[in-house]
Amino acid sequence: MGKSTLFNRLTETRKAIVNETAGVTRDRQYGKSFWNGIDFSVIDTGGYVVGSDDLFEDEIRKQVHLALEEADQILFLVDVKTGITEMDEIVAHILRQQDKKVLLVVNKVDNHKLRLDAAEFYSLGLGEIYCISSTNGSGTGDLLDEVVELFKDKPQEEELDIPKFAIVGRPNVGKSSTVNALLGEERHIVTDISGTTRDSIHTRYNKFGHDFIMIDTAGLRKKAKVKEDIEFYSVLRSVRAIEESDVCLMILDAERGIEAQDVSIFHLIERNKKGVVVLVNKWDLIEKDTHSTKKYTETIKERFAPFIDIPVLFTSATTRQRIIKALEEAIHVYENRKKRIATSQLNDYLLEAIEAYPPPAWKGKYIKIKYVTQLHSQTPTFAFYCNLPQYIKDPYKRYLENKIRERFDFTGVPIQLYFRKK
Ligand code: GDP
Repeated sequence: MGKSTLFNRLTETRKAIVNETAGVTRDRQYGKSFWNGIDFSVIDTGGYVVGSDDLFEDEIRKQVHLALEEADQILFLVDVKTGITEMDEIVAHILRQQDKKVLLVVNKVDNHKLRLDAAEFYSLGLGEIYCISSTNGSGTGDLLDEVVELFKDKPQEEELDIPKFAIVGRPNVGKSSTVNALLGEERHIVTDISGTTRDSIHTRYNKFGHDFIMIDTAGLRKKAKVKEDIEFYSVLRSVRAIEESDVCLMILDAERGIEAQDVSIFHLIERNKKGVVVLVNKWDLIEKDTHSTKKYTETIKERFAPFIDIPVLFTSATTRQRIIKALEEAIHVYENRKKRIATSQLNDYLLEAIEAYPPPAWKGKYIKIKYVTQLHSQTPTFAFYCNLPQYIKDPYKRYLENKIRERFDFTGVPIQLYFRKK
């Protein structure tokens, strides 16, 4: 119908999180986009509704309200071939009554004649129209220019050099209980500072000798009634919390083990290049023997592979077991994520490791890595300068990553390696 095609176009520069994230149903999607140096997220509020007119209208209203609650601006997609439908009128009516920026996108404008037809959509009273053809891509560049315009004006939040933590995990694993065990009744003791997005609260704490910010996206949420909606909100919430954090405390339920949704959340953290500490919560409920933690840790690493250099703690929010340890571990990971290794130290060590086990030649060509340096970036990123960067394959990249991890402590932090021509 066009909406998914547009979604895919907007998110094609990045691998969309689509479908992979549990709770995001077939026709509701969430993905990342990047245009003119600006990162933003795209939400497809979902599907087409069949049923009686009443049901239909209800469903549309729900989707529009979801978009209004979740998004900074709204792309309202209409179809030039069908012209203005009754549903378009309903949506336009709702959109005219609120303050968020709305871009009226007229789709399927594949030729000049249709471009003239598209003018009828001015009558919806939503201002400028953006004609696109999501199949051939025309117009999407102009649309994206306009989309990022809104974000350009936003002043950059000044970054405090204080760790930002988010507690994430499936519903019921013990997120709120863990926050309460950690912060107790003294929540909000220090100051509330405004978050980077509208609907999350960043609260600064000073507890157990540490200064840190907890990102709280829960508790603000509306009264979704349908299970699917609740899950969708919960996924969006996790995504937000992850994006705004430095380190995530990812909670698992010891009794339930690792489920697909846990793996998706973990991958979200990894893909956003955030630090992570895994807490296996409700450990008080488990019958333990001497090998329990070891076995559990192994299972976690198997499921979360290949990123397995992660701290795993066995906690109980109920008995407060290892709750402070969890905070300390999160701070340790935060330090690791900020760490910078001197170039000389890096080269002394890695060039030797490379000499001991050089990259395999490719089609008779020798690959020579000459120089390594850590780039200035938010997360640990290393650039390897070499003659034939394109021929360095994943297994060798993993070897180098492991070497870096063996020597320098980057536990809990995804690291990136780039290979550049020198
Ligand atoms: P959330 O949805 O992830 O925030 O989970 P909650 O914190 O609301 O906890 C869900 C349920 O698990 C509640 O009934 C808690 O009392 C219980 N719970 C949470 N942590 C623990 C724990 O460490 N041990 C036990 N036995 N129960 C827990």
